[in-house]
Amino acid sequence: MLETLRDLTRHESPSFEKQPADRCCQFLADLWLQRGAVVGIHKEEQRGNHLRVMWTPPGVRPKSRLLVLGHYDTVYPSGTLAKMPFRISGGKAYGPGTFDMKAGIVQALFALDALRELRAPVQKSVVFLWTSDEEIGSGTSRRLIEGQAQRSDAVFVLEPSLGPRGLLKTSRKGVGEAHLTVHGRASHAGLAPEKGVNAIHELAAQIARIEKWSQPARGVTINADIVSGGSRTNVIADRAEATLDLRAWRQADMHALEKRLHALKPLHRGAKLELRGGFDRPPLERKHSGALFARAKMIAKSLGFSLGEAAAGGGSDGNFTAALGVPTLDGLGAVGDGAHATHEYVLVNTMPQRAALLAALLSSF
Ligand SMILES: [Zn+2]
Repeated sequence: MLETLRDLTRHESPSFEKQPADRCCQFLADLWLQRGAVVGIHKEEQRGNHLRVMWTPPGVRPKSRLLVLGHYDTVYPSGTLAKMPFRISGGKAYGPGTFDMKAGIVQALFALDALRELRAPVQKSVVFLWTSDEEIGSGTSRRLIEGQAQRSDAVFVLEPSLGPRGLLKTSRKGVGEAHLTVHGRASHAGLAPEKGVNAIHELAAQIARIEKWSQPARGVTINADIVSGGSRTNVIADRAEATLDLRAWRQADMHALEKRLHALKPLHRGAKLELRGGFDRPPLERKHSGALFARAKMIAKSLGFSLGEAAAGGGSDGNFTAALGVPTLDGLGAVGDGAHATHEYVLVNTMPQRAALLAALLSSF
């Protein structure tokens, strides 16, 4: 497993660099081809290609499918390996993308090996989908993911688990990004201030209003994370904009927040508002993960370890599949820490255990 993780990590796969990403995709495709799976590469123009692998147990006529989902892209640009090489030290495997989520892919590969070698009684086809753009919002993969999920009885997401105990993620916040642009009117701040409409003042007033919509106890948050506006001193600003981060645990709260944003009216006479964007990922609500988690917990117990659950404030592609009503269990990947950080690592001795858990889950249907 470590050799495979090392080779996979050495195939750098930044979301924004198609050529290295495609090489990583091909490396993965070959791994699955060697195991007799049916491999399909979904070509992309700008982003890395997506990889869809289907494995049907020999002699089985499956009526339905299970989906194993993850992404092979990482947040690290090409060349990161030079500063942050793959290395193993103190029971930890370090390197860019090891935890998020290349070790998860390796675990899925070895889960398949286990199923094949043990001739486990798998009754369904298993589709493995490895996408190239999760870290940048899944713009090119979303439809593919949703299409595959709709044909599946359950979705297992190999994103990293949470914390040193490797908690699974049974709920995730819905996440969005909205852009609020204010159009005002420029004028000389000294000679004709009355003719201007200050877009920055309007934006500041709107942000003060919007800020009050957060409901921390319900997990609804709205944050202005980027603001800009104006052109120079002496000139009343005719334009200002803000990028807002939106989060919510519940679909109903997500819809309510979007509605309020779109209903915003200007507070200064003559100002105009323009709102774009909204939630990109709906929340993953526990009602879509609870039954699968109970099953995973029982299986883990029979394998000799205990399994806990947690809620995550960030989204993943599991948010898309759960929002379709398809049972989804997330955080089945690596145990470790430091996602998107220089100390990113995986706890080596948990890798076989988590691969076994996935294999047992897949053969439990
Ligand atoms: Zn990830």
